[in-house]
Amino acid sequence: MYIDTHCHIYQEYYDDIDKEINDCNKENCNVLITNGCDLKSSKESLEIAKKYKEVYAAIGFHPTEIKDYDDSWLYWLKEHINDDKVVAIGEIGLDYHYDDTDKEKEIIILKKQLELAEKYQMPVIVHSRDATEDTLKILKDYNLKGIIHGFSGSLEVAKEYIKMGYKLGVNGVVTFKNAHLKEVIKEIGIKNIVIETDSPYLTPDPFRGQKNHPYNVKIIVDFLADYLNISKEEILRITNNNAKEILQKLKL
Ligand SMILES: [Zn+2]
Repeated sequence: MYIDTHCHIYQEYYDDIDKEINDCNKENCNVLITNGCDLKSSKESLEIAKKYKEVYAAIGFHPTEIKDYDDSWLYWLKEHINDDKVVAIGEIGLDYHYDDTDKEKEIIILKKQLELAEKYQMPVIVHSRDATEDTLKILKDYNLKGIIHGFSGSLEVAKEYIKMGYKLGVNGVVTFKNAHLKEVIKEIGIKNIVIETDSPYLTPDPFRGQKNHPYNVKIIVDFLADYLNISKEEILRITNNNAKEILQKLKL
């Protein structure tokens, strides 16, 4: 069984959710964690999770999607944090990529969500882009478990996150030519990673540039099996266990 620990399955990207789930089932991809990025997509992720047994929701507010944020968003998060199908607070984090970034606002909203996660002992799914130093510094202040989604940093940074109790989310980027990520994975071992697609983004090779789908996790698993010379079954056994260890409300 394949698990996609990070995707964005909602109307904004997929017209026909039924078809998407069906296609995943055909490929033995039976567990999907759809991540909200603002209030609207978090609500929708939760609705979809309630409708399909295969789908679980991470709810939270992404650093580039907080333009309209007010504390009613946080109130909604608190109201639904204990819902059955909510397995994490995510996608949350820091993104300093764009010139007009309001770092201070990103940090405030991230901290509010981390506090909530800590209070309810919920894992977090963290996005960090061009913001490693601040992300590490802030996460160290909280007693949390979680996933560093789309990890692409150095071996040194990987070790820091692992020491803090995080697993690293590995997506299609690992299949790209010149990606140094595979060497980092070789060093840290599959015991420290989970598999994700970030659908509809980051489609693995050889389909790079096309729209991504959760069932493409199998391309990532195949790639790692080949590169690391470990059987596909072993990679699935270990990374699925890792997902369950972090996202404890998953029913596998
Ligand atoms: Zn994402």
